[in-house]
Amino acid sequence: MSEHPRELSRPLRVAVIGAGPSGFYVAESLLKQTQHAVSVDLLDRLPTPYGLVRYGVAPDHPKIKSITLQYEKIARDPRVRFLGHVELGKDLTRADLQKYYDAVFYTVGASSDRNLGIPGETLKGSYSATEFVAWYNGHPDYPDREFDLHNVSSVAVVGAGNVAIDVTRILAKSHDELSSTDMAHHALVALQHSAVRDVYMLARRGAAQAKFTTKELRELGELLEADILIKPEEVALDEAGQLALESADNTVKKNVEILHEFAKKPLEGKPRRVHLRFLVSPVEILGQESITGLKIERNRLDENQNAVGTGEFETLPVSMVLRSVGYKGVPLQDVPFDPRKGVIPNASGRVLEGEAVVPGEYVAGWIKRGPSGVVGSNKVDSAESVKLMLEDLSTLELAGDADAHPGAITALLEARGVHYVTFDQWLELDQFETEAGKLVGRPRVKIARISEMLEKLKLRI
Ligand code: NAP
Repeated sequence: MSEHPRELSRPLRVAVIGAGPSGFYVAESLLKQTQHAVSVDLLDRLPTPYGLVRYGVAPDHPKIKSITLQYEKIARDPRVRFLGHVELGKDLTRADLQKYYDAVFYTVGASSDRNLGIPGETLKGSYSATEFVAWYNGHPDYPDREFDLHNVSSVAVVGAGNVAIDVTRILAKSHDELSSTDMAHHALVALQHSAVRDVYMLARRGAAQAKFTTKELRELGELLEADILIKPEEVALDEAGQLALESADNTVKKNVEILHEFAKKPLEGKPRRVHLRFLVSPVEILGQESITGLKIERNRLDENQNAVGTGEFETLPVSMVLRSVGYKGVPLQDVPFDPRKGVIPNASGRVLEGEAVVPGEYVAGWIKRGPSGVVGSNKVDSAESVKLMLEDLSTLELAGDADAHPGAITALLEARGVHYVTFDQWLELDQFETEAGKLVGRPRVKIARISEMLEKLKLRI
């Protein structure tokens, strides 16, 4: 921090673009610092706050979702204002942000996904886990998406991260297990009529290289209606693997131990089966118009623990493929973007344009570092970016006092006919959802359409 903090005659005006975990942690860090009075606008293109906690965290993980109680406290602070249903690039430009705020943080996460780059990926029945997760969580971009689970008996989930585990678990759970969650109503109905009996989760590397965390793996062994199948030879470690395991972290050790336990566990004749396959890569999705199978190749690990194909192939009899090989950021209009990494280029959180730091613009969360870590990991990341902003403050060009008045940006939005949603209005939606939930014994029944949200708030006739 600079030795002579800048004296401000008014609160520092900060825009945070994206009201997910990273956005809330940026706001929290700004509130916690004691050097400057602040006034924070937390903007989101959706009328609802909480980003991936509402639309990404699995519906059967309510404990992780309870973090929203902390976010609610942040949003209720008089120094913070939520402005939902405001889209950068449509309702506001980057130039507007630069004019009306002293500093801007981009915390929009990573809403797209990576491809496998194999033939057949565009066939009907081949989807990204990102879409599937957003659909079952009632994301407003996907209420009309259809996943033909009624006519599919076997699904392959490609990837060995926590998202792959979430998707596998949701496909394998019974209606009873899901009906007490806040899963979107349309997904609950579709899953109730699901014909899926076999789910194949495919890891291209070995048991010791899987990305999932132990708690999530263990949960797979607790499914009421699904047995776990593992080929012992696919989780066996050779001498080099054993050696590597000795120096591995506890998560890896525990994962390997649990996978070995699963491999030994006798089948209980449950109606569904989860096949955890290791050292296999999909090489082609087979079929003409729809999927008839997935061709996979057996892998071995090279000396750097990377997967190398062995030329040995097998076909899995699946008719749906969900690729869960990582999220990817998407560009914001006029904002620098690195398409290869799927992030806004930055130096520890300061936005870069080419080699140069862009004064007053910062990033935090997945759009800063890529899609890694759990919800809480974003706290440290956001705090780091806020610290840099405070260090830069003495040299930042500040907005004019009139523009920096909180009423200026809302007047601009109103003049542009934008129906922005305030936090109090979100709380009304929240109440609608939770009351609808009470009637059917669920935590909430999510409103999945923006038009319906706005109607409920009488913002559009
Ligand atoms: P992830 O943890 O990075 O896992 C991606 C998986 O895809 C890896 O197993 C990776 O294998 C595999 N993969 C990548 N490219 C592939 C290819 N071409 N063919 C086959 N496999 C490929 O990503 P994620 O599961 O999307 O999760 C994102 C982040 O959210 C993670 O930090 C995760 O822990 C977090 N998350 C947490 C929870 C929770 O706490 N409950 C729930 C969901 C997500 P390689 O290792 O070989 O590259």
